[in-house]
Amino acid sequence: MYVILLGPPGVGKGTQGVLLAEGLGWERLVTGDLLRQARAEGTDLGRETQRFMDAGELVPDNVVIGMVKERLAALPGGTGVVFDGFPRTSAQASGLSMMLTALGMKIDQVVVLEAEDASLVQRIAGRRSCPSCGAVFNVVLAPPVEDGVCDKDGSALQHRTDDAPDTVQHRLDVYRTQTTPVIDYYEASRATVHHVDGEQGVDDVQTAVVSALSIA
Ligand code: AMP
Repeated sequence: MYVILLGPPGVGKGTQGVLLAEGLGWERLVTGDLLRQARAEGTDLGRETQRFMDAGELVPDNVVIGMVKERLAALPGGTGVVFDGFPRTSAQASGLSMMLTALGMKIDQVVVLEAEDASLVQRIAGRRSCPSCGAVFNVVLAPPVEDGVCDKDGSALQHRTDDAPDTVQHRLDVYRTQTTPVIDYYEASRATVHHVDGEQGVDDVQTAVVSALSIA
């Protein structure tokens, strides 16, 4: 089974993706994390994509599609996958459909998490991420037990450079212009699209996501 979590930056895709994948024993395929990992490891991919990420621009479709293809091919057959942060353009959505068709699979359900820009800007300002395990905290809404330290592996938490206020506004604009057409793409296809209010607390969003998907 393949599920896509869609939504603007800061809406809680990462948090809900972890809860969903852990609850179901599925894999998370998070393109932002894969790109950040490539950058941390200093690979060619990391060097090529750095400037797009720092500017809040999307990394070119062919690069991201290639990365996802490689990751999917490495998963054992029958693994359930939660996609987070992918697809982000109509071209990526159709690239994913082609990949899955070749595997005899398809996207089953899409969850669109929604929130107002003002809440997203506020949440991103407080967001702190673990550079090692990818865990995400919020200094106000979901603080770590020890200030600035990851609860899971003890690494020092970071405020992502692309979470700076100027870049965030641009990323929100990029979402509205380039990623919302992906919702239309799936609404026009046979996938079921659920819209969930991401302004609620983490537990309420999780309940809404699980009940929308009716799989847990
Ligand atoms: P995220 O962590 O999902 O907010 O992604 C951080 C940054 O990584 C984005 O602003 C893009 O520069 C890049 N990125 C992540 N996923 C994609 C994608 N599917 N397509 C293009 N760029 C992406």
